[in-house]
Amino acid sequence: MQLIDGKKISLQLQEDIANEVKQLLASGLKQPHLAAILVGNDGGSETYVASKIKACERVGFKSTLIRLPEYVTEEKLLNAVYDLNNNQDVDGFIVQLPLPRHINEHKIIEAIKPSKDVDGFHPLNVGRMVLNLPCYVSATPYGIVHLLEKYNIETSGKHCVVIGRSHIVGSPMSILLAKNTALGNCTVTLCHSKTENLISHTLKADIIICALGSPEFLRAHMIKDGAVVIDVGTTRVESIDSKSGYKLKGDVKFDEVAPKCSYITPVPGGVGPMTIASLIKNTMLAAKKEIYK
Ligand code: NAP
Repeated sequence: MQLIDGKKISLQLQEDIANEVKQLLASGLKQPHLAAILVGNDGGSETYVASKIKACERVGFKSTLIRLPEYVTEEKLLNAVYDLNNNQDVDGFIVQLPLPRHINEHKIIEAIKPSKDVDGFHPLNVGRMVLNLPCYVSATPYGIVHLLEKYNIETSGKHCVVIGRSHIVGSPMSILLAKNTALGNCTVTLCHSKTENLISHTLKADIIICALGSPEFLRAHMIKDGAVVIDVGTTRVESIDSKSGYKLKGDVKFDEVAPKCSYITPVPGGVGPMTIASLIKNTMLAAKKEIYK
């Protein structure tokens, strides 16, 4: 079994981008700038946004955090999005999800200018991704594809089971891996909560991507020997062993599943850091206007 070290690959990617930033600045171009809108004080969202800002500092990007209260109106949030759309200095921005229930998430995402949508959630970017056109690919699936590539994991002709069909992880992941591209050509089965006899699918899978948000859901008896297991899940569970009072649990029962795998990602230190690196990569593409000229 080989552990896929997402933290290491993420730092390598960020180092490459830091070098690119130095070159940009040396050639007289402006510093890439990522902004984030954070609504409310959800602990998980605070942590994710803080990691994104830290990554910006690491690679030499400028970053701006716009905090809005939990009870902000949809109109005010839309105005904050329009301001960033029109701000010439901002190359890309994200609206940290989830949003409070009174806000229509789709409406907010559709308001983001596609050329600044570095999370890759806007329908135009999703559509372009499906059609194999230049776009921002959403950060988590993009990070996973990068990990598979770095570890030379063969995808062509393999059977991949994706568990979870969300718009931000499972669905784009299933599309990317089924594409007629170098890192694709898998036969993909997309499973969800209505899938019957899920184990009959996972037992046949060469690659399993677990993105359902159910701690330790995937057990050893559900996979075949030598499978590649990518754990996207990050659920906060209470823990007296950690200073923060919680720890992150993946969707895979790691100790039990790892010995049967050929490759596996840990939680933390697997997919999570790659999501951040992909966001930074998308922002660099935005700064260089490589996707939308
Ligand atoms: P989500 O929007 O809640 O979607 C969960 C998906 O899992 C749904 O499609 C749901 O099916 C499916 N599902 C739930 N229970 C199931 C079961 N028992 N069997 C089969 N499918 C089941 O979640 P998400 O936003 O994709 O996130 C999934 C996990 O990834 C969460 O733990 C999240 O924190 C984590 N995450 C991590 C990163 C990272 O960077 N590491 C990034 C994003 C998300 P239905 O569609 O039928 O409801």
